[in-house]
Amino acid sequence: MNYFSTNNPSQKISFQEAVRKGLPEDNGLFLPEEIPVLPDAFFNNLPNLSLQEIGFEVAKLFIGNEIPENELKTLVYEVLSFETPVVKVEEDVYSLELYHGPTLAFKDVGARFMARCLSYFNRVKKEEVTVLAATSGDTGSAVANGFLGVEGVQVVLLYPKGKVSPFQEKQMTTLGKNIKAIEIEGNFDDCQHLVKKAFLDKDLNQELGLTSANSINIARLIPQTFYYFYAYGQLQKSTNKPIVFSVPSGNYGNLTAGYFAQQMGAPIHHFVASTNANDIVPNYLATGVFTPKPSVQTISNAMDVGNPSNFTRLNYLFGKSQNKFKAAVSGYTYTDKETKVSLKHLQQLGYTADPHGAVGYLGLKEYQKGHEVTGVFLETAHPIKFKEVVEPTLGIKLEIPDSLKVFLEKEKEALSCSANYEDFKNIIQHL
Ligand SMILES: *Cc1c(COP(=O)(O)O)cnc(C)c1O
Repeated sequence: MNYFSTNNPSQKISFQEAVRKGLPEDNGLFLPEEIPVLPDAFFNNLPNLSLQEIGFEVAKLFIGNEIPENELKTLVYEVLSFETPVVKVEEDVYSLELYHGPTLAFKDVGARFMARCLSYFNRVKKEEVTVLAATSGDTGSAVANGFLGVEGVQVVLLYPKGKVSPFQEKQMTTLGKNIKAIEIEGNFDDCQHLVKKAFLDKDLNQELGLTSANSINIARLIPQTFYYFYAYGQLQKSTNKPIVFSVPSGNYGNLTAGYFAQQMGAPIHHFVASTNANDIVPNYLATGVFTPKPSVQTISNAMDVGNPSNFTRLNYLFGKSQNKFKAAVSGYTYTDKETKVSLKHLQQLGYTADPHGAVGYLGLKEYQKGHEVTGVFLETAHPIKFKEVVEPTLGIKLEIPDSLKVFLEKEKEALSCSANYEDFKNIIQHL
């Protein structure tokens, strides 16, 4: 399978090149030259397939012979060494729990897959690379965990100072080895902006061999398609109604992956983009105008994105048509107050969610008001990652999983930097 940049569709590159580059030089984003379609036999058998089996079938189509099948199978099976259960919350409402990986957020799936692909390519072709990632919290820990100890790869994480949860911060600043964390005096958009600027800086790119581990990297998105198929297969056993996915969205990587799955043949009826106060895409759907604005801090901080990067991909895939976009995706936005009410309501139903899942639940319920559908909201993080919000809102104490306790005992190690590009450049050149 070849890939192209949304700004230059005629020039094709391999999967390996797309993963290594992360971001095309022309400031577009990479897409596969065609979205492969899975055969009927795959869908007929879907309810019987494990997440790992699905992952292998799907990955083959996107990667072709660039990773030999036996290696690819091992790679996919290692990435998906944890479950993504579909849990019933109430009639026609299910939670797709994506937080059972090592850092307790869905980003483990994409980050582990990307890390292993890069590691495979590095083994074959020795070339040092530096992975740069801006994080609003969960990307950093997932990327750090996925890349820890991978030879030939330096990881540099940028996060907004004081704007990530204490757990998230510990998870990315205590690993050492090839992982470096930098706290930026600014917000997430400033971090994302610095990363983008570094990519467009030819000298720096040459010197460090930069690649991105944000969802601008196509290797993050491909594995995120797997669990849409899996959830669809599981639900086929319990409903005859059309199936809708509500995706708590920030940079829209997860939603783009869902759209890939639909285009690959999964009969997903519709998508709901559920957001917090950072309502750029719901606004676009309502007005037809895409207007990025500075991000606002909320209690669902992993969605505090004011300029969602994967909009470029979705917009390209929808032929730049607001109508086509609207036909596939509905968008709703919620305040922190509404999110807390949603957390409490879910708790009464016997389900403890995190603030992002709670936003996803609200969007789903809103869509269901006018449509007879079975809905799944993506539960993108473990509630413990947002303990500071969940515990006082629900008046309960959450148990800390052992996998997190380990981080709490370690010392934070992070560099500090202003949001100024020259300062940042100077720091990463001397790491
Ligand atoms: C990153 C993240 C999101 C947003 O996902 P996108 O793919 O950027 O839209 C939602 N919830 C949690 C918990 C996250 O970490």
